[in-house]
Amino acid sequence: MDTLTDKFGRQITYLRLAVTDRCNLRCQYCMPAHGIDIVDRKELLTYKEMYRITRVLSELGVNKVRLTGGEPFVRKDFVGFLEMLSFNDKLDEINITTNGALIAKHISKLEALKIGTINLSIDSLSSENFAKITRRDVFDEVYKTLEALEKSKLKLKLNTVVQSGVNTHEIIDFIELTKHKNLAVRFIEEMPFNGVGQRATKEVWNYTKILDLIQSQYKDITPLRSDKSSTSRNFEIPNYKGSFGIIPAFTRTICNDCNRIRITSTGLFKNCLFDDGVFNVRDFIRQGASNEDLKQLFLSIVKEKPKNGFIAEANRKNNNNVSESMSTIGG
Ligand code: SAM
Ligand code: SF4
Repeated sequence: MDTLTDKFGRQITYLRLAVTDRCNLRCQYCMPAHGIDIVDRKELLTYKEMYRITRVLSELGVNKVRLTGGEPFVRKDFVGFLEMLSFNDKLDEINITTNGALIAKHISKLEALKIGTINLSIDSLSSENFAKITRRDVFDEVYKTLEALEKSKLKLKLNTVVQSGVNTHEIIDFIELTKHKNLAVRFIEEMPFNGVGQRATKEVWNYTKILDLIQSQYKDITPLRSDKSSTSRNFEIPNYKGSFGIIPAFTRTICNDCNRIRITSTGLFKNCLFDDGVFNVRDFIRQGASNEDLKQLFLSIVKEKPKNGFIAEANRKNNNNVSESMSTIGG
């Protein structure tokens, strides 16, 4: 079998697929208050196109897919798409990243499908602060979802973007949530993907600073073994039911073991979060490409995967700064 291997010997086994650019929230670190310029519906990949792209990639060794957006559950019949994707016998794992505001009623269905982990994004445990961050008043729904997911068969991870002066005082509250709950909280370094660019902050909350704060409160945290390609460095506290991790998304110390590619909701293929898209797969399909054409395309573009996120950023066409919204990229 041909496999997707880049020129540094990294094998690609993981696809992050954005199913929409639309979202029901307006998180400050992701987009401006008025939202982003969403694309015309016909520019979005159809579910059939997404299924086909995923199938071809899975025949080249991709065995794990994460569905993201925008908010995946705002797209009509997303659960139907999950059912469709579950028929792909080459996929071992289908995971979803969601803000959780719309999913409570779908949890039992998700348990019945081949869904592995839900990454629930929640940046505050106070409804007031949550509303300030997301610019929407849906904390109660999201927290109810968190509790229901924790009790479900699905694996639960929380994504918490650490925002200087906004939720850094809640880091320890999030750690305490793992005392009695079987979930993994992952603190993510904030990146400038908010539709505007780098936000001015008094302090830089990077991996080291987050870990230092936690270590100052807990003397006996233990590193956990993680997959080589894991984006987070993970830890546990003795006798705590859950665990925590830190994702050095912006300091980019995880690139050596990267096994991921991304496809945006408009079909733009990205070898790296920090590149500005290398090929539009949607247009290629709509021009009549066969599955064999798609295979050859994927094999060749993966060869161009940059060594790390700094090189990807430097190679951006027009030298434009990284500032597009995570909702467009597919986080
Ligand atoms: N709407 C869904 C959600 O929020 O989970 C899925 C899409 S969202 C773009 C995916 C992930 O990207 C979320 O966990 C979000 O917190 C994260 N994210 C968005 N903007 C970010 C930024 N500027 N820096 C770091 N993480 C970001
Ligand atoms: Fe929407 Fe997710 Fe971006 Fe928040 S982080 S605005 S929930 S896409």
